[in-house]
Amino acid sequence: MRRNIYLLSYLLVLTTLAAVPAFAASLNLTSPKSGDGTTAGLSEAGDASTIQVCLDLQASVDHQILMGARFTAVQLFAGIGVKLQWICDRSRGTVNRGIELRLSDHTDPAFLKSALGYAQPWTDTGIRATVFYDRVDELQRGRDPVGVILGYAIAHELTHVLQREDAHAAQGIMRSSWNEQDFQLMRLGTLYFTGADVRAIHRGLVAYAQK
Ligand SMILES: [Zn+2]
Repeated sequence: MRRNIYLLSYLLVLTTLAAVPAFAASLNLTSPKSGDGTTAGLSEAGDASTIQVCLDLQASVDHQILMGARFTAVQLFAGIGVKLQWICDRSRGTVNRGIELRLSDHTDPAFLKSALGYAQPWTDTGIRATVFYDRVDELQRGRDPVGVILGYAIAHELTHVLQREDAHAAQGIMRSSWNEQDFQLMRLGTLYFTGADVRAIHRGLVAYAQK
């Protein structure tokens, strides 16, 4: 059975939120936090090969799955010459900089139906990528005890932020929907970025480093 898993980005979120404004406040999309030390930078000044991510854990996630997901995301970016550093845990009040990534749960079933997450690639502050852990958990239950799918979902949304666009690829990690074959490739560790994705990521990193 083909399962379409949509990972939507900012434009669709804006469109959707226009219809359901109540979600804007609940997801804090319109009022990024200020004064909390967030910076627009993704990495140390001038470093165009490193991204730093600050986790905002707002979901109940098994420790092993979370560690596996972090590792998977690190490996995916390492495969294209990018060093992903998990620099802080925002929910624990540690230093807050880099890309803020939120893992949330209790997602309203009507909100961005079938989406596993969304990104805000044109925002410089606050949460820039969100993954709906409850929906990922439904997918991975019984077939992904080590967080591989979660790691891919995280990498997908972070890539929107790095590329500063909502574009999707015809195949691979940046497909707009994943099917059973994609999940199989994830388990094998062979679902990759396309060449165009990689070039766009590196262009984005250079642009960020020059800020
Ligand atoms: Zn997407």
